[in-house]
Amino acid sequence: MTASTTSIDLLGAEARPFIAGRFVDGEGETIRSREPGTGRQLMEVQAAAAADAHVAVSSAAEAFPAWRALSGASRAEFMVRLAGQLRAIAKDLSVLEARDAGKPLAEARIDVLGAAMTLEYFAGWANRVFGDLLPGGDQTLDYVRRQPLGPCALIVPWNFPLLIACWKVGPALATGNTVVVKPASATPLSALVLAGAAAKVGLPAGVLNVVPGPGAEVGMALVRHPDTAKVSFTGELQTGRTVMSAAAAAGPKPVTLELGGKSPALIFDDADFVPAVNGTLSGVYGHAGQKCAARTRAFVHRSLYEAFLERAATIAKSLRVGDPLDHEAQMGPVISDEAADRIVGYVENGLSRGGRAVAGGHRLERAGSYVEPTLLADVPLDAPVASEEVFGPVLTVHPFDDEELAVRQANNTEFGLAATIWTRDVRRAHRVAAALDAGTVSVNTPAVVSVEAPFGGFKLSGFGRDLGRDSLDGYQQTKHVVLDLTEGVFDAYGI
Ligand code: NAD
Repeated sequence: MTASTTSIDLLGAEARPFIAGRFVDGEGETIRSREPGTGRQLMEVQAAAAADAHVAVSSAAEAFPAWRALSGASRAEFMVRLAGQLRAIAKDLSVLEARDAGKPLAEARIDVLGAAMTLEYFAGWANRVFGDLLPGGDQTLDYVRRQPLGPCALIVPWNFPLLIACWKVGPALATGNTVVVKPASATPLSALVLAGAAAKVGLPAGVLNVVPGPGAEVGMALVRHPDTAKVSFTGELQTGRTVMSAAAAAGPKPVTLELGGKSPALIFDDADFVPAVNGTLSGVYGHAGQKCAARTRAFVHRSLYEAFLERAATIAKSLRVGDPLDHEAQMGPVISDEAADRIVGYVENGLSRGGRAVAGGHRLERAGSYVEPTLLADVPLDAPVASEEVFGPVLTVHPFDDEELAVRQANNTEFGLAATIWTRDVRRAHRVAAALDAGTVSVNTPAVVSVEAPFGGFKLSGFGRDLGRDSLDGYQQTKHVVLDLTEGVFDAYGI
């Protein structure tokens, strides 16, 4: 069933799949994109079906030889122009992303500018991908070259729809691959605007395709397609497992998995107290806790524990929760009513396990899907709210007495995405950073993502990296070439 075509009104984007350089009719069910801030329908999107995903991969495969043959500098030029298109409409695109994903406007704007910055950063790498010249004799030429893989399936979650798409599009295109982006069904719009930008800058047809649609059908079709050379997936652990088994069965083919987290913040007794409390809250309540790297468990030295709870509760209670388009709102909604109910269910279970709600714990009585910023004390560490990914604005706080125990408890999770340490002791900072199981450790700052640094997980948080130079490796294969330049090399064999 298809919907009538809807214009997104930004860069000529339409609410339907973008394949081989054009917006086309999709054969999938209509996606009714809902605004988490109001509960109202935002737009109808004509989704792709598996057959459309196949056409998208074929178009990426057709475009691959010419794209890969372009000079790095030419690829970079396209990417910088793509970024420029996003920058030019940053204000309107931020509003669209804020409404579609339910994030406060200021956060949506950071995402949009971050997406442009990511494309620019990777454009800088496009003509800086070097091989290696190996030491050999004067009569040999022995070198390693790096080559792209081919069409890449880029499967993206709903929490940072445009940003994470660009985390993957950037390194893939820079290194000469072509891509098919599959946005999450809850947030398909900004990836379609990126497609509009691709059309505007004349990116060759098929280099970037976008297929909104259900993961189990469209995402799976991309993973299984024989021409898909690589899958880069960001999403939940269980989905990641499914994607990886399908990629194994259909290939095997290389997979990068960026999965969930249950990241800790460690607040030591010598921490600068006010920034430590404020920073810990910002590390969890940003995007209403719907961040893979949200630091959702605070381990606080017992000497600061009560003071920490008191200040944190005061702040949590005073945070202004509101519509993403309300400039005063400090925290927005969660993605759906189901998510809100699930989050509150985790909290109630924590309370039934002896926990104490120092702040929040409920849904807000208003249209849209809002959960109060929540702070729980006295929850046992093995309660689901303290051990599973809640993906909502919930912080559990746990006292500790010594560093070794704090590190052990922080590491006692199946995940390992990020961690934050608050201390003024530089020796301790290095020691604890080395001991924590996490792909990123920040000290005295809640910020854990930077475009220049690799981002990804230890343990079940996944493998492979987005961002930074390391991410380029995920989209390339090496080839060793050896030339023997000696004249008459086979004379000894009498040939
Ligand atoms: P999700 O796993 O439900 O969906 C992610 C994407 O996979 C969506 O596009 C979805 O349509 C698609 N998908 C679903 N089933 C599929 C299947 N069978 N085959 C192929 N594709 C399929 O995740 P979500 O709810 O969109 O995102 C939230 C999750 O993402 C959280 O667990 C969060 O921690 C994680 N996340 C991780 C990172 C990171 O970098 N580690 C970043 C952001 C989000």
